[in-house]
Amino acid sequence: TSPRPLRPHTANFSGTPVDYRNYVDGAFVDGASGLIEVTNPATGALLGRIPESSPDVVDAAVTAARKAQPAWEKLPAIQRAGYLRQISSKIREHRLELADVIVKEQGKVRGLAQVEVDFTADYIDYMAEWARRLEGEVLTSDRPNETIFLLRKPIGTVAGILPWNFPFFLIARKLAPALVTGNTIVIKPSEETPINAFVFAELVAETDLPRGVFNLIGGQGATSGEALVTHPGIDLVTFTGSVGTGSHIMQAAGKNLTRVNLELGGKAPAIVLADADLDLAAKAIYDSRVINTGQVCNCAERVYVERPVHDALVEKLRVLFDATRYGDPSLEEDLHMGPLINRAGLDKVSRAVEQARSDGATVVTGGKVADRPTGFHYEPTLIIGARADMDIMRRETFGPVLPIQAVDSLDEAIALANDSEYGLTSSIYTSNINSALRASRELKFGETYINRENFEAMQGFHAGRRKSGIGGADGKHGLYEFTETHVVYIQG
Ligand code: NAD
Repeated sequence: TSPRPLRPHTANFSGTPVDYRNYVDGAFVDGASGLIEVTNPATGALLGRIPESSPDVVDAAVTAARKAQPAWEKLPAIQRAGYLRQISSKIREHRLELADVIVKEQGKVRGLAQVEVDFTADYIDYMAEWARRLEGEVLTSDRPNETIFLLRKPIGTVAGILPWNFPFFLIARKLAPALVTGNTIVIKPSEETPINAFVFAELVAETDLPRGVFNLIGGQGATSGEALVTHPGIDLVTFTGSVGTGSHIMQAAGKNLTRVNLELGGKAPAIVLADADLDLAAKAIYDSRVINTGQVCNCAERVYVERPVHDALVEKLRVLFDATRYGDPSLEEDLHMGPLINRAGLDKVSRAVEQARSDGATVVTGGKVADRPTGFHYEPTLIIGARADMDIMRRETFGPVLPIQAVDSLDEAIALANDSEYGLTSSIYTSNINSALRASRELKFGETYINRENFEAMQGFHAGRRKSGIGGADGKHGLYEFTETHVVYIQG
């Protein structure tokens, strides 16, 4: 329980919906050019309104972040970490209410929303721990009486652009490594799920974080987002979202030669060999597919199973798919799935399944929009007879749909898995260590999960190959993406 409720409205989203305000230079400011309505995808209920930020507001936020940066960089890192820990404490104080905000604006089931909030607080603390471990290097020189230092420095002012599927965690994935290394930041959340970010700003406002170090602006991607990533005062854009937007942002930011870090889409393959523990494989692949209603970049989106165990695996998956409980997560506890994020998401999933049918694949279970009074619900859907040339095996579906293709060997499975424009995560289920090792050598992906579901660790490195991204996040390597190297030659 919390010592103090968040805004009474936000705590239960009843009464008159609140208009949230941008957080710029340590204050909540007016000056929006319009308002964007935020609704609950399970019910359509209006939850609140956020500002559409005008170019002036974007400029004010970037200016504030730039002004705050030099003093922030000069602070000892351990002091910067102290401010981060104040933020994680505030999150823990309000963990139940924050999870409720995510349930209502994103449609996530309560258990997972709570995991997201708790993981976010832990992630901020994890990044804060790096404060005493930010290291440069001392090099030997070719000259007499010379020392060469590699200093690790912040890049400057960062723009963080967020998607809607893990809206709260992604604030931390951008903010915590940026701040501990001495950068300042302007964040623009997704217009689909911004309220949790505005509540986050209210929590930050209660800490001693110096003004201007963190700024939050609301708005649509094509207007406020574009103004932010093309602002000449931004030194690094860190973006998580779709391939199309990522590519556009890279080109737009390229006009100023602004650096980009891109975490984009995926079409994760899961390979199941004949010697796999099929119960484990079925459960892990199922969990990976229905988590967040299939709207996770790194979760299994296509299965390659060796022919001898195809039917057995499909049957185990069918039982799991048919037992899926889904509905409105703000009304029902203990659900596997909530709704899809919006009408466009539902239509995309519907079209993908229809296309798979007309391409000749077979729907084993599910396969249509769910019969629910409100919300964007799609039935958990299992598809067999998929082939490599079908869109269902090539394009990101982002819904609770799992296509399966039978294969004759590990070689064939690896070749099919790698034949993708995406390269984020992959998985393999086998009891043969040699097969697992071969797969980890030959799969061309940023991550490979062996005999477990796809869920990354904060100390790992989450990075996509090919169109899944540029650069990465998490762990030491993700932290150092927010730094640049300064070489100092000292003669004497
Ligand atoms: P999206 O690309 O539609 O939007 C992401 C963000 O970009 C939003 O905040 C949006 O307002 C903003 N935006 C849109 N146009 C812009 C522009 N011209 N300039 C600046 N900003 C702009 O993505 P989404 O639908 O919110 O998220 C789903 C996608 O994100 C999926 O493809 C998923 O795979 C991917 N994703 C990837 C990861 C990862 O770590 N690789 C994690 C989560 C989600």
